[in-house]
Amino acid sequence: MPLYEYQCKECGHNFSIRLHIEEHDKKRPKCPKCGSRKSEHKYSAFFAKTAKKS
Ligand SMILES: [Zn+2]
Repeated sequence: MPLYEYQCKECGHNFSIRLHIEEHDKKRPKCPKCGSRKSEHKYSAFFAKTAKKS
């Protein structure tokens, strides 16, 4: 399962969560800190990690 990184727009908390791609498309995860669903997906970190392989 891919790891997705989110930032909560309500409280600014950053968190990572493992989801199936289908789940990720369907709904937004709750912020573990404040419980808001105003989470924004961050793409950059996820792709940066997998791009380099030495
Ligand atoms: Zn929050």
